Amino acid sequence: MLELREITKRFGDVLANDHVNIVVKPGTIHAIVGENGAGKSTAMRIAYGFYTADSGEILVDGQVREIRSPHDAIALGIGMVHQHFMLVETMTVAENIVLGAEPGSSFALDLKSAAAQIRQLSEEFKLAVNPNEPVEHLSVGQQQRVELLKALYRHAKLLILDEPTAVLTPLEVEEFFGILRRMRAQGKTVIIITHKLSEVLAISDEVTVMRDGKVVGGVQTKDTNAAELARMMVGREVLLRVEKPDADVGRAALEVRNLSVTTATGAKRVDNISFQVRTGEIVGIAGVEGNGQTELIEALAGLVEPAQITGEIIIDGKNINAVSARARRELGISHIPEDRHRRGLLLDFNLAENSILGVHYRPPITRLAGNVFLDDGAIRRRATEIIEAFDVRPRNAALPARSLSGGNQQKLIIGREYHVNPKVLLVSQPTRGVDIGAIEFIHRQLVKLRDQGCAILLVSAELEEVTSLSDRLLVVHDGKIAGEVDPKVATLEEIGLLMTRGH
Ligand code: ADP
Ligand code: MG
Repeated sequence: MLELREITKRFGDVLANDHVNIVVKPGTIHAIVGENGAGKSTAMRIAYGFYTADSGEILVDGQVREIRSPHDAIALGIGMVHQHFMLVETMTVAENIVLGAEPGSSFALDLKSAAAQIRQLSEEFKLAVNPNEPVEHLSVGQQQRVELLKALYRHAKLLILDEPTAVLTPLEVEEFFGILRRMRAQGKTVIIITHKLSEVLAISDEVTVMRDGKVVGGVQTKDTNAAELARMMVGREVLLRVEKPDADVGRAALEVRNLSVTTATGAKRVDNISFQVRTGEIVGIAGVEGNGQTELIEALAGLVEPAQITGEIIIDGKNINAVSARARRELGISHIPEDRHRRGLLLDFNLAENSILGVHYRPPITRLAGNVFLDDGAIRRRATEIIEAFDVRPRNAALPARSLSGGNQQKLIIGREYHVNPKVLLVSQPTRGVDIGAIEFIHRQLVKLRDQGCAILLVSAELEEVTSLSDRLLVVHDGKIAGEVDPKVATLEEIGLLMTRGH
């Protein structure tokens, strides 16, 4: 259906695609995997005419074709859904789909027949999209289906999907895979770019693995496994499953009693939650995002106005509801936030400066407590220690945080919080946007911290992460704890049900 032959593409000094060869057979679901920056999107954007290759050939249906623009690609039956949707919010589904599809024809006339056609396509592939609905009323998952419909409406035989599941909840991913299987059954060919191995194994027939701009392997999905794919992606052995000894649990370090959090506008986001985290254990919180996890962690970190909280937050037996975020850090509470750009780092500051956030007002970073004069030598020493111990790359404390990849930014934050030797660690989405090799490292560090006696509360939208790291697992739904399960024995289905249905 599609073949890339010796495709090479440079962006300035970066060799984004280096003699890339990919063969996609008709009627298959073909996964392209690789770490961030491996060149996956570039290769597929070249196939879609979004970029032109410096050299190499593209074959469609066995014939060499010139694809100079997406217009050429669409004419050859190729459709692409990008990571960021390109829909006009204020227009309906049908208007969005027809827009730009048939230049020259009357828009109003097209719209009526288009709506009927879209309805039919939506039924055929079970997309459940109403053509007359304004896009602004649709969820992210539904918007993605509109993008699929757009491609199908333009008679795409080959659909290229760039990281389509990044915006979906675990249950939406299941539904989405159902749609892809129906498309395959109807004779369509699908290329799915992803960096999640479980998804590759669940959905694809064949896999192409890319690393550093090159294709480093191609396998039939049934003949491979996660460990082999990870090794190809990273270029070394990667430990996928977190290996940890049983927890050596002590007293309750953090206790939450009947905690509720209400927003400034009066919405109850956390609803009467009670639990404990003891020293030496990781308590996980699983749940579809937006079910109160963010507000819970922020309340515990002291980032919510005390007036918005009822119930009790107790550290070492003492109520800390009225204690400021800074004073909570003094009590040994560390926070690794879910949004590292908004809360975790000052992007324009360098790594050294970022490495002291949160302790910048006390010795040894200042010469005297509360002193505003920082000790440059101490800052540099601390930064260097963290950069070395946590393998932050590049190893240059003078670089701005902005210039690091997501994984390296996260290693810096974790290193910084680790360095203060916390008694209680609140950590949200520790590996979001982080490459597999760095995920393994971050997981090991969290277990190490646990084994030093830290009480860890872990929130993650990645079910596999939260089940494999946690010693106990709470499932939240609609601001309440829907259940507690033993992560060693609970199945993903069991947890998934609690996540959606509550009790
Ligand atoms: P992937 O999709 O596998 O994460 P990409 O194809 O997006 O990787 O990127 C491959 C390399 O090319 C990266 O180093 C990236 O920074 C670079 N790159 C991609 N697109 C551009 C662009 N438009 N301009 C400059 N560099 C780019
Ligand atoms: Mg990409």
